[in-house]
Amino acid sequence: MSSRNRKSTAASTPSRPRASDQLALPPYRKPSHPFNPRAQAQLNTIYNTHSLKGLKTHHKKAEELITEAAALINDQLRDREERVRRKRKKWERGVHTHDQEREEQGLDELKEKVQDTTRRLEEGIRGVVDGDVSAERAEESLKWVKENAQGSLAREYEMRMSQRQSQSQTQTQRRRKRRDEDGDEDMEDEEEESSPGPTPLDGERIALTGPSELFEKRILAKKSEYLSRSHGWRYSKNNAYIGFKRMLHDAQHGDNGPPLPHPDTWFTERGSPTPGVTAVQNTENSDDDLVIDKATISDRCPITLQKFKEPYTSNKCPHSYEKEAILQMIRGSGARIGGTGIRGHGERAVQCPVGGCDQMISAADLYLDAILVRKIKRMQEEERWKAEAEDSDPEDGMSSRAQYIRVQNKGDQGISDDDNSMMSPPRRRHTESVVPATQEPPRSSIVLDLGEPSEEDEE
Ligand SMILES: [Zn+2]
Repeated sequence: MSSRNRKSTAASTPSRPRASDQLALPPYRKPSHPFNPRAQAQLNTIYNTHSLKGLKTHHKKAEELITEAAALINDQLRDREERVRRKRKKWERGVHTHDQEREEQGLDELKEKVQDTTRRLEEGIRGVVDGDVSAERAEESLKWVKENAQGSLAREYEMRMSQRQSQSQTQTQRRRKRRDEDGDEDMEDEEEESSPGPTPLDGERIALTGPSELFEKRILAKKSEYLSRSHGWRYSKNNAYIGFKRMLHDAQHGDNGPPLPHPDTWFTERGSPTPGVTAVQNTENSDDDLVIDKATISDRCPITLQKFKEPYTSNKCPHSYEKEAILQMIRGSGARIGGTGIRGHGERAVQCPVGGCDQMISAADLYLDAILVRKIKRMQEEERWKAEAEDSDPEDGMSSRAQYIRVQNKGDQGISDDDNSMMSPPRRRHTESVVPATQEPPRSSIVLDLGEPSEEDEE
């Protein structure tokens, strides 16, 4: 944490200065007057100089790592399941039955570990989403205070002053009445009445609700509003959470599983993730854009007809295109959608180039599709494996998925293929990578020990 941030933390809790602070702040006193221009300028400065961009970058990174870890361990589990499935055929024929018990037990243990870890990663990604919302809330509340504190203080001051006015008028009337009754003049009272103001001589000071209190109140109100929402409301529309669910689903089911269930079914009414929902076939909402139709998966761009290098997928329809090709089409288009672009003209857009699709696509509707990258990699490995299998007995060879994992772990080295760009680690979205690759923690610190790797002990 930088020293600037530490200072801001201390400033936000002025009533409880920490012992470690070099200069303890004086006890908090509520303001007695509305802001003067200098106070407003200083509040503006706080807003303009404090940014939570760094925190948000860490959230992004955490979301990516959690999603990657969930995909990695579920890939491994599916690999192991496939290996045991192949071995079962041999065991049924009475071949190599000596390792049957050990293999089955190992698979059960791995499955339990992966399920438990996946559950914790799912909790983890929701925690990061909550953290990101809370950062947004802090910034929004500070902005609100910057814009509204002055008005709030002025109104409260006005109210207190008129209260005081009417009180002192009542007192004066009462005294006049008393004077009329006993005809006695009290000079002390006269003096007090002649000095109305915010700090009268009796020492009573107007105490207004200060900007830090307004900030705290605003944050707490917004927080309890957020926490009262259902899990579905909080996470099912969040891009990071959707990305996690998509990636996890792909790792758990591959290409032959059911489509990803509709987001409305992701949580029970009580908030916990619906158990086993990923195994439910989703036919009702099969036209939803979140469901990837198996039949449409192609490793070629519909514009260039070349193999994908960086597939970009539309948020509006289930179609994907090569990044450069679709962006070039959008840049060259005269059509615009929405009115929120530069100068209010809307963003450049182009009709989806896939025949029969009439969606208007702008650059903002596109994202780098990490899931499609995974699917295409699997297709390519499958093709490669089939080609190699012609020369050897497929039952004794490695599964295509095991090969895929091996290739992935090796990285780019040793692969002399046109589609080298496909072998880079999948990135969920088009995000800036702020943490240099060399600073990334080793895999072992992200993923729990899941026992022996799936490739080990291959026949
Ligand atoms: Zn389309």
